[in-house]
Amino acid sequence: MVMVCAIVDFDAAPRLTFVPPAANMVAAEIGPPPGALMSSPHAVLGAIRHDWTLPEVEALFALPLIDLLLHAQHVHRSHHEPNTVQMSTLLSIKTGACPEDCAYCPQSVRYETGVQRDALMEIGAVRECAERAKAAGATRFCMGAAYRSPKDRELQIIAAMVREVRSLGLESCATLGMLTPDQARTLKDAGLDYYNHNLDTSAEFYREIISTRTYQDRLDTLEAVRAAGLKVCCGGILGMGETPADRAKLLCTLANLPEHPESVPINQLVPVPGTPLAERAPPDSFEFIKAIAVARLLMPRAHVRLSAGREAMSDEMQALCFMAGANSIFYGEKLLTTGNPDVERDRRLFERLGLRAEAVPTDEQAPRRGAAHPSHAETTA
Ligand code: SF4
Repeated sequence: MVMVCAIVDFDAAPRLTFVPPAANMVAAEIGPPPGALMSSPHAVLGAIRHDWTLPEVEALFALPLIDLLLHAQHVHRSHHEPNTVQMSTLLSIKTGACPEDCAYCPQSVRYETGVQRDALMEIGAVRECAERAKAAGATRFCMGAAYRSPKDRELQIIAAMVREVRSLGLESCATLGMLTPDQARTLKDAGLDYYNHNLDTSAEFYREIISTRTYQDRLDTLEAVRAAGLKVCCGGILGMGETPADRAKLLCTLANLPEHPESVPINQLVPVPGTPLAERAPPDSFEFIKAIAVARLLMPRAHVRLSAGREAMSDEMQALCFMAGANSIFYGEKLLTTGNPDVERDRRLFERLGLRAEAVPTDEQAPRRGAAHPSHAETTA
């Protein structure tokens, strides 16, 4: 029996467009959304663009939620396998005592948060954790260290950890703070696949969250990481007190980088007692879901990671995030210092939603594949 599905075109007079039930549907079949996008010469969603304007991004946020989800899911399916989720495990390889003052971070030395400080782990212990992560089903192993920037001696040890992780057949990623171009090349030579360095929020709001480094510092590290040939994992945090315009600006900045990050973690703030943001209320659930969908539309090939804050989300909210285009999660009981849904809960959720884990991509698949990362504090740095 031949089946067709009907897609409503929201932009023209009501009519139905029939499309075959192929897994990968073409985004253009549902057409662009109304408003500011219509004035753009590139106003077909699903295109790879680096010239997004703020009004265009705000127009996406202004769409009715269901329309936005529909657009996002179609773009998602034109670039990714449906119903698959990339799964990473994150390990804090050096915890606490960070000299930076990121207002969301329990690892800053400036805040009394009760986080236990741990020196850089032994290489063998990291390998054991990576083996366990692989046995539990993770395909990528991410190592986070609470540094402003690593010293070269520390970097050599971390490079050895990367080699161990790669020898297990796992993809590797790291988040270590700011890097020089030479440091980025050292990690690349060790076999590192991804480097996480989040922009966190808009350039304007960033100044209210972190005073010990600048937005430009972040962009410089991202440039060094790209120049070294590493894949980029870069996203932000919602719920820090930013405005809707700050969220739109963050996503606009990410989308207009010279290359889209392969991974875009969208974190929901985990307010930690003792940090300046301890009393922040979570963002509206639907605004969070919309941010996932807009990230999907702006960066169609990226893996958008449903990242920190997932523990506090209902199964239904997570399902809507996957519908909006999230296709990467952290898997395991703990992020760097805060909780994460336990492995069994995730297994049950995947079963109920019909989701499956994404395999480690082969080199030939690499251009279509990426993965997202939380921020350095979960991680957020
Ligand atoms: S987010 Fe990273 S850089 Fe900022 S305080 Fe925490 S560990 Fe340090």
